[in-house]
Amino acid sequence: MKIICVGRNYTDHISELKNEKPEEPVLFQKPDTSILLKKQPFFIPDFSNDIHYEVEVLVKIKKIGKHIQEKFAHKYYDEIGLGIDFTARDLQNKLKEKGLPWEKSKAFDGAAVISDKWLQKEELPAVDALNFRLEKNEAVVQSSSTAHMLWKIDELIAYISSYFTLKIGDIIFTGTPAGVGKVATDDRLVGYLEDQQMFSIKVK
Ligand code: ZN
Repeated sequence: MKIICVGRNYTDHISELKNEKPEEPVLFQKPDTSILLKKQPFFIPDFSNDIHYEVEVLVKIKKIGKHIQEKFAHKYYDEIGLGIDFTARDLQNKLKEKGLPWEKSKAFDGAAVISDKWLQKEELPAVDALNFRLEKNEAVVQSSSTAHMLWKIDELIAYISSYFTLKIGDIIFTGTPAGVGKVATDDRLVGYLEDQQMFSIKVK
């Protein structure tokens, strides 16, 4: 399986990092080795002093597809999850300055938190109006709705599949809203989708 991530998909987050608003979705991937193993804490890697959490709505692909039309995209997923795109911001900024790929700052071991739980889209409000939030040590640090995405889930599936064939089990990280920030040892990160707890991660 592969993980395809979307960068800069919420305007409030684009402004907080002083990035330009992209003309097309920004895409990158994380390897399967970046998935944080179930029930395991997230260990801050020694190559960074500035690991940021980014809470993101996840979409799990259930059918193989290439060049999927936006109007058919809804047939390619049933399950919605929640995750964290951990980012070594200091390293990412260095790589960005030099025009180099972000890979090392986003694809390292443990950098992809994927909820244990997946919710059926039929049981949820419209996928373009899902509320989600991240709490750090019981304080809300990120809170948004998929309604604020620049590119909605079906548009993303159409766009992504024009470059990468989507396969069963692939997961899309759909981008993070404002409020990203640094993690420290002993933090607890808990994610909620429509008030259902989706994951709880300890930082070490
Ligand atoms: Zn992200």
